[in-house]
Amino acid sequence: MIRPKLLISWRKILFMQLTDSIGRNINYLRLSVTDRCNMRCFYCMPKEGIVKKGHEAVLSYEELQLIAEAAVGLGIEKIRITGGEPLVRSGIVGFLERLAGIRGLRHLALTTNGLLLDEMAADLYRVGVQRLNVSLDSLNPQTFSDVTRGGELKRVLAGLDAAEKAGFPPPKINVVIMRGVNDAEILDFAEMTRRRGNSVRFIEYMPVVKEDGWQRYCISGDEILQRIAERYTLEQIDKGKYAGPSRDFRISGALGSIGIITAVSGHFCSECNRIRVTSTGQAKGCLFSDERTDLLPFLRPPDHEKLSQALRGIVSSKPERHGISCDGYAHQNFTMAQVGG
Ligand code: SAM
Ligand code: SF4
Repeated sequence: MIRPKLLISWRKILFMQLTDSIGRNINYLRLSVTDRCNMRCFYCMPKEGIVKKGHEAVLSYEELQLIAEAAVGLGIEKIRITGGEPLVRSGIVGFLERLAGIRGLRHLALTTNGLLLDEMAADLYRVGVQRLNVSLDSLNPQTFSDVTRGGELKRVLAGLDAAEKAGFPPPKINVVIMRGVNDAEILDFAEMTRRRGNSVRFIEYMPVVKEDGWQRYCISGDEILQRIAERYTLEQIDKGKYAGPSRDFRISGALGSIGIITAVSGHFCSECNRIRVTSTGQAKGCLFSDERTDLLPFLRPPDHEKLSQALRGIVSSKPERHGISCDGYAHQNFTMAQVGG
């Protein structure tokens, strides 16, 4: 008779599962292709932008592809391309097409601020991107411009429409809720899911940039959910395999759904299934950890074996949980645009 423990190990080998030291299955890589951006969201980067990296410091598409292939070889099934703004990097469409061709990769997704989607959605769909997440923090043009320091809401809304026209499922919309900035729009976003098929995911504001008086923006996922539940009847819904750590709901009869991502208050660390690599080749097991592994030595020149080993190391040393909070804030030395959110 095969003992259950043995059966589990064989399953891991056969299906190439990547498991960390506390048994979490790591199947998701967030790969950043640039830290540059055509917006300046105040919670993400300073007004003047971030110090530009020299051409040499940023990984070439060939190097990014080597990382993606090594990760998939180890058991990663989903890759999300992020940034900075991934659509501002020239050659991105061709790169995505090559990624989509990696054998064993089941899910290729992209997170964007949506400014360039109107013109690029059809190409992204054609080359095999499967899902889009679009960040959209306000449905009010002035608030949107204030948060993004000059972004044009109508271009993002046009991008959302273009994505669906191109054939994508309705993009997931990421909204960072900040008290006194856009929390008055929580119900507007919830209402949007009744009319459109988009899933709106409310994300807790994370104190990363440390703007003056950042504490006043903090608002918990529980409060966001409560405000929605006071108006609407919510049904909890199951999430898909790669869905990540959101709690998902649907307003009765709505076309779209609502997700609550309690990145700060909600300790979803026990369900975390992801690793990250920045556009300069720094691999991280946790967004909020200062620990990172430099992959450059295994890329220049390429050493496939050592690259795989390094990625495996990131998984096995993945911290059990992060230390960020809205009370006592553990110091971080990065901007979200550098790590990719
Ligand atoms: N530029 C793209 C975008 O905005 O979607 C991709 C990169 S952006 C860094 C990825 C995600 O991180 C976005 O959804 C953004 O809202 C989120 N993000 C950035 N800074 C954040 C913060 N301080 N708190 C919560 N979410 C943040
Ligand atoms: Fe740019 Fe995205 Fe950061 Fe906004 S959240 S500044 S769009 S990278």
